[in-house]
Amino acid sequence: MTDLNTIGEFGLIERIRQATPAPKHADTVRGIGDDAAVFNWGDDYGLLATDMLVEGIHFDLMYVPLKHLGYKAVAVNVSDIAAMNGLPLQLTVSIGLSSRFPVEAVDELYEGIRMACEAYNVDLVGGDTTASRSGLIISISVLGKVPKDLITYRNTAQPNDVVCVTGDLGAAYLGLQLLEREKQVYLADPNMQPNLSEERSYLIQRQLRPDARTDIVHELRDLGIRPTAMIDISDGLASELLHICRQSGTGAVIFDENIPVDDQTHLAADEFKISPITAALNGGEDYELLFTVRPQEFDKLSTNARITAIGYLTANPDQVVLATKAGQQTPIRAQGWESLAKS
Ligand code: ADP
Ligand code: MG
Repeated sequence: MTDLNTIGEFGLIERIRQATPAPKHADTVRGIGDDAAVFNWGDDYGLLATDMLVEGIHFDLMYVPLKHLGYKAVAVNVSDIAAMNGLPLQLTVSIGLSSRFPVEAVDELYEGIRMACEAYNVDLVGGDTTASRSGLIISISVLGKVPKDLITYRNTAQPNDVVCVTGDLGAAYLGLQLLEREKQVYLADPNMQPNLSEERSYLIQRQLRPDARTDIVHELRDLGIRPTAMIDISDGLASELLHICRQSGTGAVIFDENIPVDDQTHLAADEFKISPITAALNGGEDYELLFTVRPQEFDKLSTNARITAIGYLTANPDQVVLATKAGQQTPIRAQGWESLAKS
């Protein structure tokens, strides 16, 4: 038998994809391989994304409030719809619960889910409820739509496109490091008060209650810009950039000094003795958007403070590199993958 870790999550998905028959319905436009599946809905494309959060793998209820968890479970799904340049419409929520959860815990989880549905203008329309032996499991599926002429895949980027990211990166990872450290302090001495001061609040918020960038989808539409490719940053900039490059057959040059990192992220990275660039490349859970635009389109975006150009694409698929100011180039590799970690 083959250990799952020898092929990894992406290897496993690729194996499933290869064994999946071609779509039987003409209206199934795109199946496995992008942020969401795509369907023909007349003037629009329908979009369907699904994501699961598992206690002990994706969250630790010692420091994750259930209300935040509910919000995050919705946001990470909506983020995949935004990554197709679409907007969400309806969602279903399926939960697995072990007997240690009282009714009030489910109320709290759903309060967060309802807050996110309000924030993203989505209707909660169904789901499933089951018992679980391994704590809490939340699986959400979201339907969305995008006008046909605006859909944005991962595999349609071109050489010379400008590579852009929204917001800033690495904060959610450092938020997680802070929460984990406080947990260890608490476990050692439950009388200790957590040291999560105001100047850390942004990092904690980015970890516990991320937002999907539907605002950017609206903004791109207002500016009349359709990215050539887009993906959301759930696993870290490195991994997502490699998805776009592999699927589009391009290379990329990314300038490390251009990668947007918040001041709080810099400070915490210093404290944990990790490079903020490593946190941005491999940390994950930022739920920002990574997209590419034709160079002549970038002018329309260049004054936007929420969008940063970090590099450009090349015609050489073997060259996906990080460039320093001094001109040194190092290959960008995807790291950090724990989804199938042994339990
Ligand atoms: P994302 O990080 O954007 O959620 P994933 O890496 O989870 O994307 O998934 C990539 C693609 O693989 C998506 O099209 C997704 O629907 C598909 N996929 C993931 N897991 C499975 C599975 N177990 N069976 C079939 N398709 C899957
Ligand atoms: Mg995604």
